[in-house]
Amino acid sequence: MNIGIIGAGIAGLSAAFDLTRQGHTVTIFEASDRPGGLASGFKDPRWDWELERFYHHWFQTDEDVIRLIDELGLSEKLFFPEPVTSLFIDDKLYPATPLWRNALLPISPIAKIRYALSGIFLRLSSNWQALEKETAHNWLIKFMGEETYRVLWEPLLIGKFGKYYRDVNMAWMWARLHKRTVKLGYFEGGFQAFNQALCDAVTAQGGTVHFSTPVTTITREAANKVTVATETETHTFDRVLATVSPSLLRRLTPNLPADYLSQLDNLKSMGAIVLVLALKHKLTDKHYWINLPKTANFPFLALVEHTNFISAEHYDGDTIIYCGDYLESSHHYFSMDEDELLALFLPALKRFNPDFDADWVRESWVFKESYAQPVPPLNHSRNIPPLKTPIPGLYWASMSQIYPWDRGTNYAVEIGRRAAREITQNPL
Ligand SMILES: Cc1cc2nc3c(=O)[nH]c(=O)nc-3n(C[C@H](O)[C@H](O)[C@H](O)COP(=O)(O)OP(=O)(O)OC[C@H]3O[C@@H](n4cnc5c(N)ncnc54)[C@H](O)[C@@H]3O)c2cc1C
Repeated sequence: MNIGIIGAGIAGLSAAFDLTRQGHTVTIFEASDRPGGLASGFKDPRWDWELERFYHHWFQTDEDVIRLIDELGLSEKLFFPEPVTSLFIDDKLYPATPLWRNALLPISPIAKIRYALSGIFLRLSSNWQALEKETAHNWLIKFMGEETYRVLWEPLLIGKFGKYYRDVNMAWMWARLHKRTVKLGYFEGGFQAFNQALCDAVTAQGGTVHFSTPVTTITREAANKVTVATETETHTFDRVLATVSPSLLRRLTPNLPADYLSQLDNLKSMGAIVLVLALKHKLTDKHYWINLPKTANFPFLALVEHTNFISAEHYDGDTIIYCGDYLESSHHYFSMDEDELLALFLPALKRFNPDFDADWVRESWVFKESYAQPVPPLNHSRNIPPLKTPIPGLYWASMSQIYPWDRGTNYAVEIGRRAAREITQNPL
């Protein structure tokens, strides 16, 4: 078949990897000038390795991406350090992992016992379908207790889901607890080296990738063909796979029926913004990741000292810091420029190291993305559109269809490969 793919993120590339291997003719259209989508990187001229625009790591349970890396013959490039992840509570840092170290949290003994018992239940249970019927907010207060919820879980939910935090269902939290591992994975050369290797494998198998080529419309043609238009050309395919956000799919495809469009509109998501800093000195002694509750009045949600995870030697000795937050795309941070964000964020760094000074900043970058984190409400399994759209020959595989697991590159691989199977194995 002649197959078009919109997006050279991990989902689009994973689908293309399988489809080209089976001998199909695959053409990928990518709006950006490089592969990797949300997991793509950038590089300061001084660095040896690329750095992700948004902080990224894998878990040891991320079997789909680990298998794909193995199929690419690149397993020796994957490594799993054990960095320190922490929670900021009442101006002190507490270990976030492993879970048993939560015994050190500043909560009462009764709260610790309830926390341990419900934690064991969640670890052993595999019935997430029952959990999606209740919000994480209600379930956690009911079983873990108000005290633990306020200290531990509410900050996490507010940080990730903003005004939707009471809507998120408990299956999402269950999935998060199930999949976390203490060791976190990374790729030699950065995630971009993996993205590029996957893209190279697709082209080596005969695929074509058009970079800096945004698709402008997707139209249904007679005889179940689908046409993809870019700013300069149109291409007609037997099958098209779009890997873009629900709102973009809506804009690109005017012929979608009204009931499907309202299904797309119901899929809520958050945006993300990060300020990346290259510092001349270390900020914290050992912390890779620090979760910050909104109540502690930091101007961001997470402080990530990447070089406490991956050695600074790959970045010419720079200390790499991400100050990140999940926000609605209407939030005023999205209209602030780099200088304004620096002025807002830098003073907060003194709370991690009183010696910090703005002179420590050698270089900085800002990255913003309006579609970064889908929100899973009650009974979300019923809301998820299938990979096949109502337009014959048009398929859609996005972060919004990943569930109950939290979106991630592992699931982008899984959904991309599932889409390739759906395209080739099932009739229209
Ligand atoms: C802040 C943040 C932190 C994250 N942390 C992690 C992590 O630690 N570990 C992890 O595994 N995952 C993490 N993720 C999630 C991970 O990046 C995504 O789940 C994954 O990259 C999604 O891949 P995708 O291919 O589905 O989508 P995308 O990466 O969004 O790919 C879609 C592609 O379509 C392209 N495109 C858009 N419009 C058009 C158009 N009109 N025409 C052509 N192309 C178009 C885009 O440029 C993009 O390349 C994180 C994401 C964010 C935002």
